[in-house]
Amino acid sequence: MVDTSMCGIFGYVGKKEQEVAVKAYFALRDLEYRGYDSWGIAAPIGKEFKLLRAVGKISEKSEGDFSDIIGKMSIGHSRWATHGGVLEKNAHPQLSRDKSVAVIHNGIIENHHELRNFLVEKTGIPESELFLSDTDTEVIPHLIAYFITTGKTFEAAFSEAGKMLEGRYAIVAMRVGESYLMAMRVGSPMVIGKSDEGYYVASDVPAFIDHTRIVAYPGDAIAMKLRA
Ligand code: GLU
Repeated sequence: MVDTSMCGIFGYVGKKEQEVAVKAYFALRDLEYRGYDSWGIAAPIGKEFKLLRAVGKISEKSEGDFSDIIGKMSIGHSRWATHGGVLEKNAHPQLSRDKSVAVIHNGIIENHHELRNFLVEKTGIPESELFLSDTDTEVIPHLIAYFITTGKTFEAAFSEAGKMLEGRYAIVAMRVGESYLMAMRVGSPMVIGKSDEGYYVASDVPAFIDHTRIVAYPGDAIAMKLRA
């Protein structure tokens, strides 16, 4: 059995524009002790995500590689591959087909085959075209995007997608044009931090201890909306 408590997630949503990718970079470095094989960071800039993903260690990069990304929100992930090889396309964040929803995930989605079939049926798009990665994770952004097409808000679509997931997971999602993050855990570690300037979500406290010591430990299966 793979230890799904390894690897890391990070999310931040704040009141002011700042170097949000730098924030995620330092957080992922603070979570490096957990072990990982690849990493990724995303931040919404205007109507799209700026997405950086790579195989290897984020410590090979420096702060300056991220300082041009200015915004109010970012997510970051260090991956310990369980489904799909250690490849850039399998690194997180994973995106919806229209690239409007970005998701990071620690853990395993046990019913991802059924969910792939559900999405193929609902969208009418063949699996080989719809899915760009080999991960179990990729069903999550597609499910959220699908529920948005049925008329739901991002928040409601996230909750609806969450109800369909079986397994152990900690997930954080962003949507372009929205000013909040959504997060949920079942069986995998997740902590929430609150500072005067915004909210943090991470696998462990070291990811945001330099910014706040106000920490909450969410229970299982609660969809949380984080807005600064
Ligand atoms: N199961 C997911 C994957 O293989 C997440 C792995 C992790 O926890 O980092 O992409």
